[in-house]
Amino acid sequence: MVEREPTEIREHYVLTSADYEKGLKEGKLLGLRCKECKQITCPPMIVCQRCGSKELEKTELSGEGELMTFTVIRIPPEGYEAPYIVCLVKTKEDPWIIGRLDYDTEKMSQKMLGKKVRVKGVYAHVDKYSGGEHVCPVFEISQ
Ligand SMILES: [Zn+2]
Repeated sequence: MVEREPTEIREHYVLTSADYEKGLKEGKLLGLRCKECKQITCPPMIVCQRCGSKELEKTELSGEGELMTFTVIRIPPEGYEAPYIVCLVKTKEDPWIIGRLDYDTEKMSQKMLGKKVRVKGVYAHVDKYSGGEHVCPVFEISQ
């Protein structure tokens, strides 16, 4: 079976999820810059996350940001190994993105909030829930 997106949608994708994941594997955090309001959208969406414009161009983010919140997963979904840290990072360019934080889970506390972080790599894992490979950025503390 060939899955196809409607042409109207495909025309507006300048950065697909597949492109985004490929970028992560190559050490790049890719996003979209709105030609109208200059907002950066990441991970990729079909429209600007601020103004809804479809006039987007591909851009590369610095990979730097701030730890906004996190949770330590001790009982993982089936097929995953625990413990690990899921974090929400506010990138320097503004978008908030989810990833993993490479840090000692026993030493995590609320005192870590606000720490500077940067992308250090990628986590890629095939599970039975995502319909394929699950890929996300891995951050490290940079300050
Ligand atoms: Zn916009």
